[in-house]
Amino acid sequence: MLTSICGINWGDEGKGRMVDLLSRDFDVVCRYQGGNNAGHTVINERGKFILNLLPSGILREKVVNVMGCGMVIDLKHLCGEIENLRKAGIKISPANLKISDKAIITMPYNVLQDIMEEDRLTKATGKPYGSTRRGIAPVYADKYMKKAFRMGELLNLELLYKRVPDIVAWKNMTIKAYGFDPVTVEEVISYFETYGKPLAEYVCDTGAFLNEANENGKHIMFEAQLGALRDIDYGIVPYTSSSSTIAAYAPIGAGVPNLKLTNSIGIMKAYSSCVGAGPFTCEYFGKQAERLREAGGEYGAATGRPRRVGPFDVVASRYGILCQGADEIALTKLDVLDEYEELEICTHYRLNGKTIDNFPFTDVLDDCKPVFEKVKGWHCDISKCRKKEELPKEALDYIKLIEILCGCKIRYVSVGAERDAYIKMY
Ligand code: GDP
Ligand code: MG
Repeated sequence: MLTSICGINWGDEGKGRMVDLLSRDFDVVCRYQGGNNAGHTVINERGKFILNLLPSGILREKVVNVMGCGMVIDLKHLCGEIENLRKAGIKISPANLKISDKAIITMPYNVLQDIMEEDRLTKATGKPYGSTRRGIAPVYADKYMKKAFRMGELLNLELLYKRVPDIVAWKNMTIKAYGFDPVTVEEVISYFETYGKPLAEYVCDTGAFLNEANENGKHIMFEAQLGALRDIDYGIVPYTSSSSTIAAYAPIGAGVPNLKLTNSIGIMKAYSSCVGAGPFTCEYFGKQAERLREAGGEYGAATGRPRRVGPFDVVASRYGILCQGADEIALTKLDVLDEYEELEICTHYRLNGKTIDNFPFTDVLDDCKPVFEKVKGWHCDISKCRKKEELPKEALDYIKLIEILCGCKIRYVSVGAERDAYIKMY
């Protein structure tokens, strides 16, 4: 069984929380794209954890965690993340953590590039991309330029170090053009010595591992970072991430392009949130936004940035469901809406005097205006509900309406951040 857990919206839908819950039925959890720009919050009996690089299955003792070849890995960040979890009593060893030899290494100069370019954009246009400044776009660019270092190279440092001088010379052409100090061969080598060596023991052929696990009937889960609207091809380019967040990419990014997904579970939020820049048609402003942001605690897990918020967006979510080929949905953070007597849903967009219900090209999005419909709220605490029958009628109506408008079954409803705060709808 191969299941993908993916984001339907702009990210921060609660994927980490749902992976932590659903991974009890899985043997392997695998991250297949992105880097430490992810921020997956997990709250369970062992404490509160924010995972950036490690798969969310790392908190379950019996789960083997895989970091696939589609990922970009900041060595220093990963060393820190492992150390922090160990301090919290989580066991991490090559038995429960396997890193693809084909995964890409994020270099400190990629982080520098990210910062230089966001600052340049801000000065030149006043419109930065809203990057997390963790080097993600530059390192993916290096990958496609075939200039990046891969995790497997840590197993033969002598060979790796022979590549360093030319890569450094090439990279410095860019860094100097921004007017910054060049990087040195020594500092690059010292990065590998300090943070690469300790990680070498986790590096292996994750494709071979996953294929064998699959043949032995193990259940494998793929954990996405970010949502459909942040995908490099299908998202709101350039306000996207630089990797494929799409479920169909999971087997490729994990190391098993030969395998097909059994199912795709989309994680969708009961309202909308969007961190960073870019078109966000259903956005609330002023007091309306503050109220929802406070209720939902909408501040970035990776960066602490206040997230932009709005009501549930049918147009964007339906597109997200299509992109993810979602078979069923986990609707998260429904409890955040408890305090509202009346709720809004963005059912359509208005564009040039016409009502549209398809999600348009990014440039066109800037001209779209939201159409809101009002629905009755439940206006009571649902965070203790654990059964469908315990939910108030208005909450059930809200779930049903979203289900009908989006055309996808809602199997799980999450009513709190803790592991057991959810309802199975069927
Ligand atoms: P991810 O990046 O998709 O894993 O999501 P984040 O962790 O960035 O953001 C989701 C936030 O919502 C986290 O702070 C979670 O602890 C919290 N959360 C997840 N599900 C629920 C829920 O059903 N209710 C509430 N109130 N909080 C939730
Ligand atoms: Mg997040």
